[in-house]
Amino acid sequence: MNEELCQEIVHYLRNQLDEKERIAFKKHLNHCPTCSEEIKVLQKIGEAGKRRGKGGPPSGMKKRVFHSIHNGQDL
Ligand SMILES: [Zn+2]
Repeated sequence: MNEELCQEIVHYLRNQLDEKERIAFKKHLNHCPTCSEEIKVLQKIGEAGKRRGKGGPPSGMKKRVFHSIHNGQDL
C-alpha cells in the first residue's frame, strides 16, 4: 500500500491536485479503507452544513396580506 498517497487526501479535498494526481488518488481510495472512510465522514459533514444553511420560515407574509386588505377597505 502506498502511504504517501494517504497524505494527498488534504490536497484532494481542497482541489489542489492536478488531473493525474486526482486520478491516482481516486485509485488509491479504492484500495485504502482509511482514506475512503475519511472521505465519507468529511462529505457527510459537508452535506450537513449545506442543509443547515438552507430554509427558514418566510417572514412578512401576514403583514403584507393585512396591509393589502386594509388598503382595499380604504378605497
Ligand atoms: Zn490512504
